[in-house]
Amino acid sequence: MTEEPKPQLIRERLDVCELDKARIVLLNPALIEQKKNERTIDENAKPVLEMMMREGVETVWDRYEMQQPSCKYCLAGISCARCAMGPCRIIPPTRIRGVCGADADLIVSRNLLDTIATGSAAHSDHGRDITATVTDPKEVRSS
Ligand code: SF4
Repeated sequence: MTEEPKPQLIRERLDVCELDKARIVLLNPALIEQKKNERTIDENAKPVLEMMMREGVETVWDRYEMQQPSCKYCLAGISCARCAMGPCRIIPPTRIRGVCGADADLIVSRNLLDTIATGSAAHSDHGRDITATVTDPKEVRSS
């Protein structure tokens, strides 16, 4: 008599991507309840989040969790991918400059300015709308 092969759980299969594994984990009702409450305090949003988790729809929270742990160099602002010679990382005491000679202070400063400029540009329309609301409310209503 031959023995039946033991079924392999999908979370143990190497050919299943991380996203699918995450979706499988989310099928646990207790975990869905926990994540729903962690992800929002808005009672109207909770049923939507619960439905999305039950149906395996990927959200920003899932992608955030799958990106953990964050790269410690990126978090500290001491990685640079500004040009094709990089990406460069500052790893004291041996790697204290990027290929171009930029040190940690310069790389952090440039990264911070980039982040501020990108964020400001991405939300400049809100600032324009607020300015228009204060200075010329008729113009805002007609646009
Ligand atoms: S540190 Fe310099 S060489 Fe390295 S990626 Fe940034 S700009 Fe390029």
